[in-house]
Amino acid sequence: MADVAESEGAESEGAAGADVVIVGASVGGLTVAQALRRRGFRGSLALIGDERELPYDRPPLSKEVLSGQWPPARTRLRERPELDGLDLDLRLGQPAVALDAARRRITLRDGEALRYGRLVVATGAHARRLPGQAELAGVHTLRTLDDSARLRDDLRTARRTVVVGAGVLGCEIAATVRGLGRPVTLLEPAPHPMERLLGPTIGAELARLHTEHGVRMLTSTPVAGLVGADGRVTGVRTASGEVVPGDVVVVAVGARPATDWLAGSGLTVDDGLVCDDRCRAADGVYGVGDVARFGASGAAERGVRLENRTNATEQAMFVAADILGAVARYRPVPYFWSDQYRVRIQVYGTVPARSSIRIVEGTLDSRRFVAHAETAGRLVGVIGWNSPGRLRTARGLLHEAVGPEPAAPLSGQA
Ligand SMILES: Cc1cc2nc3c(=O)[nH]c(=O)nc-3n(C[C@H](O)[C@H](O)[C@H](O)COP(=O)(O)OP(=O)(O)OC[C@H]3O[C@@H](n4cnc5c(N)ncnc54)[C@H](O)[C@@H]3O)c2cc1C
Repeated sequence: MADVAESEGAESEGAAGADVVIVGASVGGLTVAQALRRRGFRGSLALIGDERELPYDRPPLSKEVLSGQWPPARTRLRERPELDGLDLDLRLGQPAVALDAARRRITLRDGEALRYGRLVVATGAHARRLPGQAELAGVHTLRTLDDSARLRDDLRTARRTVVVGAGVLGCEIAATVRGLGRPVTLLEPAPHPMERLLGPTIGAELARLHTEHGVRMLTSTPVAGLVGADGRVTGVRTASGEVVPGDVVVVAVGARPATDWLAGSGLTVDDGLVCDDRCRAADGVYGVGDVARFGASGAAERGVRLENRTNATEQAMFVAADILGAVARYRPVPYFWSDQYRVRIQVYGTVPARSSIRIVEGTLDSRRFVAHAETAGRLVGVIGWNSPGRLRTARGLLHEAVGPEPAAPLSGQA
């Protein structure tokens, strides 16, 4: 098999570099490297990571790690010997700070330039913050292992925790805080928790679950800002002027794609790195995972950006195949799961606000059900509530509805 970059001259001109350079050493980036090697790729690979830890998984950070059930090391995606086995130039604690797509080179923080044949951007996202957050102790976001450790420390002595935002992350954090036996208030501007992902019917069911577990749930409650005294947070002011008291506040108001380093690169950034339906942002440049807005085709179609674990892996495998010569379109059925209390929520597809919800197995009251979301009589989403076994067919149903495009055979496969 030909190295992808033989014709591109990745390591010419005397500069260091690799045939494939992957920026972002987490699940998306590491999966690209693993998939390339698994498919027989023998060219040079570099994996560049901002964080110092070996690549680790984020979903346990709001669940098992925050609750103390898992030691942080258990989140590692691969141990050192396995990483060594991938024959990688692994640079940790060394962010990429600039990209020159025309000259096919990136610059690292220490000033070193690396040339590439193919570049994979897998830099994920950063947690969004509230104004004034940095000046107040006791205010947290949760994106990294360090964040999880800091929040866990603060929760040990917290008297009243406030979580701002009842999306997946906010809901999981509230559930974990209740599991630790601590009082928690959950603030959400929408009428129901996780409404954007579950719709109002199932969102109402989730509100009931949290309330039964002792969460003070304040929905339809936009937040105006943080309140503090002597450098420490004392509460959260709502838009109506009420102050919800809290000595620990977790801001879970979404994520911002990590694209700052791409400024001036010549690539298009629009709430994510804009990619076509083969996940290509430019000739020789791919986007993978939370950072990538894929399927864009000019002004008419802005594309989709998914922030979930399954997409990061599936997109990474797709991109590895594309690098090796497969030609297909990336058209995943979106999927995420969330664990709250003893409930596993799984969603395939999407649940638009105005879709109609039909319970097709079980009942809401039995707390074990499968629901279909339909728009104009067409199946667009399947929601499982403590029903993993029954959900196995969901993906297939949605593939039929959406019409998948199977990946073409790999021309470059060893
Ligand atoms: C607390 C938490 C819980 C979650 N729970 C779930 C869940 O239950 N189910 C689910 O489906 N999904 C969940 N997710 C989402 C899932 O973890 C993400 O979708 C997934 O991590 C995305 O992977 P990624 O590789 O694209 O990005 P990330 O995991 O964000 O990794 C990007 C990496 O790139 C690094 N980086 C950024 N900029 C640079 C740079 N300039 N140079 C070098 N490196 C850089 C970052 O430091 C980071 O290590 C959760 C996320 C969080 C934060």
